[in-house]
Amino acid sequence: MGSPAVLEEPRAIDMHAHQPTSEFLHDAGGQMMRDAADRFGTDLETDTYDNMLEEYRDAGVGRAVLLGWDAETNTGNPPVPNDYVAEVRDEYDDFFVGFGSVDPLKDDCVEEAIRCVEDLDLSGFKFQQIAQGFDPSDPEHEELWETIEDLGAPVVFHGGNSTLGACSPGGRGLKIKYGNPMLIDDVAANHPDLQILIAHPAYPWEKEQLAICQQKGNVYMDLSGWMPRYIDDQVLHYAKTLLTDKVMFGTDYPMLEPKPWLEQFAELEFDEDVQRKILWENAEEFLEIAT
Ligand SMILES: [Zn+2]
Repeated sequence: MGSPAVLEEPRAIDMHAHQPTSEFLHDAGGQMMRDAADRFGTDLETDTYDNMLEEYRDAGVGRAVLLGWDAETNTGNPPVPNDYVAEVRDEYDDFFVGFGSVDPLKDDCVEEAIRCVEDLDLSGFKFQQIAQGFDPSDPEHEELWETIEDLGAPVVFHGGNSTLGACSPGGRGLKIKYGNPMLIDDVAANHPDLQILIAHPAYPWEKEQLAICQQKGNVYMDLSGWMPRYIDDQVLHYAKTLLTDKVMFGTDYPMLEPKPWLEQFAELEFDEDVQRKILWENAEEFLEIAT
């Protein structure tokens, strides 16, 4: 099985990549990441960015959004610092788009969001509500959403269950209810100029996610975190019909790798114009990357 034919041109954009280094896999991930790795039979071996880029280029991927991580208050684990994300982005600036992370439970989260855009030139933000332990619809976070909306930066919210803490007692205290996309609908309604990407098919709330993507012009979704073969049928059906302008490619690197993902995606045999939208056109528009 080969890669999608449309990838003869290496323009695909992975909307969801983490660091293959200890900053993410060991430090920020901690015990909850080891639980996930044990459960799903993966290892947490680190790798270099040079190897990562080679892997991506080999798969026909031209760019990737590299995500920050700060769930320090809820997990006690150190963040993947925003300065580090910006540093890696600077070193590989023709490949990485850098998204920062702020911990909504920290007092300085609004200031840090401003610093991410104005000082570090990061392009957007990533939130992982389950790891960060917060409800995005809670009015206490309104100032943060308002600030990011004013900054004109897009945000990625986690969607659905999480494998972090899998099968551990109490799931390491993480609450999966915060991954329900319905909590993001409030944010999207109150902030129509905030561009929102819900990461992952939001199992077990895919129908809610599809409804929000249909009804809210400012909400999108990606297919990261799931190999195409296992993505919910209704999500795949919407991706090639009603939501062709709303769905984007993503892996969840290094947990999932671009080449096998794209090979399985090719097996779905979506129309080529739909493949182009999902693999890069929608992302180019969302990220406002000029082509
Ligand atoms: Zn992820």
